[in-house]
Amino acid sequence: MNNDDLWMLKDLPSAITALETLCDGLQHSLSDDGALSGQEDNHGLRVQWQKLLGNLSPAHTHNKASNSNEATLIDALQAQLTFLKRHQQQQQEQQQQSREQLLQAAHFLQEADYAEERLSGLITALEGNGHIIYYLYPLLECYQQAVSVCAQQRQQERARQQEICQRLLTLIDELSYTGDVGNEINSIKQLLLAQSDHTNLPAHCLRLIALVIEGSRLERQLSSRFLLRLNNNLESMQTQCLTSVSEGKRIVSARQIQDASLVEEIHAIDRHLSGHLDTSLAQSIVAHLNGLKTVAQQHAQLQQREAALLSQLESLENEVGKLKQQTSDYRRRLTSQNEKLMIDGLTQIYNRTALDERLKVDFARWQKTQSPLCIVLLDVDFFKKINDQYGHLAGDKALRLIARTLRNSLKESDFIARFGGEEFAILMLDVDPILLHRPLHQLRQKIEAIPFSFKQERVTITVSIGATLLQPGDTITTALERADQALYRAKNAGRNQLVIA
Ligand code: GH3
Ligand code: MG
Ligand code: MG
Repeated sequence: MNNDDLWMLKDLPSAITALETLCDGLQHSLSDDGALSGQEDNHGLRVQWQKLLGNLSPAHTHNKASNSNEATLIDALQAQLTFLKRHQQQQQEQQQQSREQLLQAAHFLQEADYAEERLSGLITALEGNGHIIYYLYPLLECYQQAVSVCAQQRQQERARQQEICQRLLTLIDELSYTGDVGNEINSIKQLLLAQSDHTNLPAHCLRLIALVIEGSRLERQLSSRFLLRLNNNLESMQTQCLTSVSEGKRIVSARQIQDASLVEEIHAIDRHLSGHLDTSLAQSIVAHLNGLKTVAQQHAQLQQREAALLSQLESLENEVGKLKQQTSDYRRRLTSQNEKLMIDGLTQIYNRTALDERLKVDFARWQKTQSPLCIVLLDVDFFKKINDQYGHLAGDKALRLIARTLRNSLKESDFIARFGGEEFAILMLDVDPILLHRPLHQLRQKIEAIPFSFKQERVTITVSIGATLLQPGDTITTALERADQALYRAKNAGRNQLVIA
């Protein structure tokens, strides 16, 4: 609230007090028998007031009928006073509303600033998506070098290992992951710093690669959640803005009507007093009327400020709308990027990362409901021979066809992922343990029946399958190990076999 507002709050009450004093004065000058005492002037004033009553708005003329009575003058003044007091109360309420609007607008502006700031950070992070590649390529290079160095002569080895180790340490210093990922990266750093023998370099490199991928995935999840929250906040901000704008408009128009009637009242009094300024009472009323005129002017100024505030709110609502649109776009982009990160590029089924995530979810669900959950591992038999005999492209084509067959043969609810290389994993929910054998057996047969042909040669490709149902006391690791052992047994049993453990 500024000084003008303070002045108005102060001045209207003082105008009211002055009128009250005037009213009291008139009451005192009434003689015991109800007539105004003595002076001739007062008679003229009374006539004037009676005329005035005829021009007041209907709400204030209910005393008009008894205008022969002297006390009617006082009644009229009191009616005027009541009107002014009501007006004062409305004014205070409106000021309170205006103040709340201003505070709200200030709050929205702050929020919008904050959102924009966070967004610009996010945009940079999104646009700079290549940063993972930036780290992954050197890490992969380190890994390759580490592997080849391990195979070289021992003497050359040490110097090369030191070199790779140094490069890894530099790369680690550039990584800025926090939480579990950050901690593990840091412990690898400590190992690299402490060890004089670096024979574990390939393992460290591989772990760092996995950590960088995991870290970036977590960052994406956080960004995704942040965007969702931001979008929701913006939505409610926009709704609040719209409400404020329409409420503001309503207040402004109500104030306009009130102010017009105040001005009208002042003019009416003014008109009726002109030409009767010869009494001190009339002059006193005129003086106070001048005060009221100033109040009316201040009202007009306040109206202008309210209109300005309204247009500010309207443009804020516009901005919020645009911001909301922007965050929706980012969220869509981020979601599609996240989905891509979960899909295996070669086979277009889920990848290992997606499998790990899904396993956590399904395992938690199984712990709660105990409804059967089956883990199935498939490994292509003698796949190396396919590569060796027909080339890697033929091998890739075989993997794609196997993935498609899996997708077409299983239920929509079954989760299928490429576990790595020529291995696949399936998570089956709510399976009937007694009937589990049948669909898996059919699956094995369907893959065997795929009509592969490489270099115009008909080739049969088979898979070995190991499966297990989760059992009481299992963890994800123990269940996966059991499925892996079942797969191993299927291989040992001659391949193209199904073993359920
Ligand atoms: P086994 O029956 O014991 O599983 O024999 P295998 O030859 O299938 O197993 P091995 O682990 O010896 O070889 C797996 C091969 O799979 C080696 C690797 O080159 C190949 N491989 C892994 N990923 C891919 C890929 O994405 N594309 C192609 N073409 N080959 C791959
Ligand atoms: Mg294998
Ligand atoms: Mg294999």
